[in-house]
This record gives sequence, structure tokens and C-alpha cells, in this order.
Amino acid sequence: MIDAAAGNGVDVIQADLTLMDDAFHADMQIEIQSDGTIGRIGRLNLPVDRRLKRQAVLPGMINAHSHAFQRGLRGRCESFALRGGNFWTWRDEMYAFVNGLDADATFDWTVKCFGEMLRAGITTVGEFHYLHHSANDDSYQLDDVVLSAAAQVGIRVVLLQTCYLTGDVAMPIEGAQRRFASRDIDDYFRQCDQASRQLRKSTQSIGLAPHSVRAVPIDDIVRIHQRAKSDRVPFHIHVEEQRQEIERCVRHYGARPMELLLDRLDVGPEFTAIHCTHTVADDLARFADSGATVCACPSTEGNLGDGIADIGRYLAGGGHVCLGSDCNVRLDFNEDMRWLEYVQRLRLERRGVCTDARGDAAGALWRVATVNGARSLNVNAGIIQTGRHADLISIDLDSPALDGWSPETLLAAFVFGCDSRVIKGVCVGGNWIV
Ligand SMILES: [Zn+2]
Repeated sequence: MIDAAAGNGVDVIQADLTLMDDAFHADMQIEIQSDGTIGRIGRLNLPVDRRLKRQAVLPGMINAHSHAFQRGLRGRCESFALRGGNFWTWRDEMYAFVNGLDADATFDWTVKCFGEMLRAGITTVGEFHYLHHSANDDSYQLDDVVLSAAAQVGIRVVLLQTCYLTGDVAMPIEGAQRRFASRDIDDYFRQCDQASRQLRKSTQSIGLAPHSVRAVPIDDIVRIHQRAKSDRVPFHIHVEEQRQEIERCVRHYGARPMELLLDRLDVGPEFTAIHCTHTVADDLARFADSGATVCACPSTEGNLGDGIADIGRYLAGGGHVCLGSDCNVRLDFNEDMRWLEYVQRLRLERRGVCTDARGDAAGALWRVATVNGARSLNVNAGIIQTGRHADLISIDLDSPALDGWSPETLLAAFVFGCDSRVIKGVCVGGNWIV
């Protein structure tokens, strides 16, 4: 047993239970170093600075796909009296909402959204940011608005700087899309450099994100991907959320979006495809073999009526899956974890579709919500381990929703039986924010 006192600037925390290596361990101490990373972990016999009584500590969750401003749409798009609803009618309502957003309103909604994420135990967000401009302006004013909002709230953010050049496949930009658009690919790259200079280095980084094959010509997607690989930053893109995207892509390019991307890009682990709702089995198998990630967004895909991606097959084929909150109609990753599994149970009429090699569903879903998101966003978090960011959450072991837990059942009880109200503390880079 080690009894040396912790050095200057080191905080020691101790919860009743700590989740490490897929199991809860009792009475572990975690050193949090002054640079916000995790130091030693173990039964260190040190004086404790923060005793988390009747709590378990887990890594913070990683939300790999968000459009924060869309938090302002919550509750506004659920009436279908005048016409039937689908993704495209929702998009019309979103565009109308964008027309009324100025920089102050964008900041306010982003602060609300990121704050709600933190309280739900999400310590890192990948903000797929395409609302760049205020009205009648093309100065990318809203890029720093997002970074400022994240800094104010204290959440770790990866700014997935989004390129938007066409209104649909080979169609001009129109209406609200002007708020999203870059003049050309070089204008986009210049703004990526500018946004990189605006990052608060300890909690902010950048990734590159052509919006979709609808919004960026394939030759420009190739250039953005080459730059992401040479800069060693994440590359994210929406893929095949809607059948109409596939039809228009086939008509113009003679290939499905995923097929086109796999044929034209040297796809690897840096690549995350958002949704893949309608991706065919052969394309999914090729994508899994590349080491790339699918980001599923169960709450949004359900709300928008997108469809159900074949996530079980993708996982069984060795593919990586992470989670996104996307339109932020609901912010509770416990709900998203279990809905990832439940839609597959409903579709296939069997239980235990999203599982790991041991057949464990809760463990597999937990990795989807943590380490897989960290891998997708290239952040050193998602697991409690020496050298990682001290991005942690604690849960209340006396919560009625967890009644009857044992160390062996606690993770499954948390994933399948709780919402984010059992989360008691949230820490980003060593700072306890909640
Ligand atoms: Zn999205």
C-alpha cells in the first residue's frame, strides 16, 4: 500500500465504487493532477479531498454528434394537423427557425444545450457546426459563438467545422442555407485555420465535416478528407439518413453515398458516418472493415422518422458505433443507450442485439456512449485511466431507481433502469461543474 502524500496541486477523490476495466471496484482513490488529467489510481491511502459518499464514479459520456442551436426547436415541431410530417417538413421548420436566430440567440440556445448535456453526464460534445453566419453576413461570426458558449458552460468540445456548398446534390444554395454556406472550398479551409486559432486549447479541438453528399461535391469531400488525415483530426459526415439522399446521389454519381465515399476516399479510423439509416449490408461490411465508426442518434432518428440502421449487424461485423444527440429534442444518454438496443429488439423480435463478445448488452452500450465516442472525436477521455482527462461523473447509489443494485448489476441497472437524474456530480478536466 502506498502512503506517500499527494504532491502540490493534486486532488484526491474517492467514491464507494469506481468503474474500471468493465467492473466496479470498491474504495479506489483517483489522483487528479493540476493539468486536469488522471494521475495514480488505486488504494493509495492518501488524504481525500473529495469523498463521494454513497456514490459510484464513472467516466463522463461522449456525445459525438450535436447541432446545439436545434435545441431551440424542442416542442415546436410536434403538430401535424395541416400536413403529414417527415424529415423534409421538419427541415422546413428548422430553416424557418434559423431565419430568426441572431448571434445572441444562438449563444443562449448553445449555452442551454451544452448545460443540459453536462447535467446529463455528457462531458464531451462533438458539435457538428454548420450555422456559421448571422443574417446578411458571411463572416463566420457564429463559430466563435459556439466556442465561447462551450467555454462558459465548461464542457469539452470538438468543433466539427462543417462545409456546406450546395443546396442538394448539384443544386444551388438557397434560402436559410446561405447561413451555412462557404463561398468555396478554399474559403472553408481558411475558416478552419481561423477557428483553430480561436480554440481554448485545454478543452477544445477541431475536426473537419463536409455536411453530406447533398451539401458538398465529391471532389471537395475528397480534399477535406485528405486534409483531415494529414492534420490527424476527426472527419465526420452525415450518410444515408434519408432515402431521397440515396436516390439523388445514384442519379448524379451512379453510386449510393456510402458506396461513393468508400470508392473515392481512403477511409480509416478517422472517419465517422452519422446515421447510416438506409445503408445496405455490403456497404456496411466494407465500412466496418475500414475501422471507421457509425454514429447512431436514436432519439433524433425516432423523432424525425428516419428509420432504423442495421447496428446489430455492424457491431457483429466488428464495426465501431458511437452515440449522438443530433437535434437535441431530448438530452439523456441513458435513454439513447437503451433505445439503440430496443429498436433492434423491436425490429428483430429478439433480445440482446447490441452486445459484446461476452453477450453483455449494458457493457457494450456503455462503451458506445463513452470510449467509442472518444475514439471518434480523438479525445483522450471516455475511460478512467492514468493519463486520460479527468472527465468523470458520479451516480447516487441511494437513488430509488437503482434500488436492489449489486456491483455486478449496477451498470445494467444504470443503463436500462435510470435516467440522468441519478447523476450527482460531473467533472471536466478536474473541475467539478455539477
Ligand atoms: Zn446531424
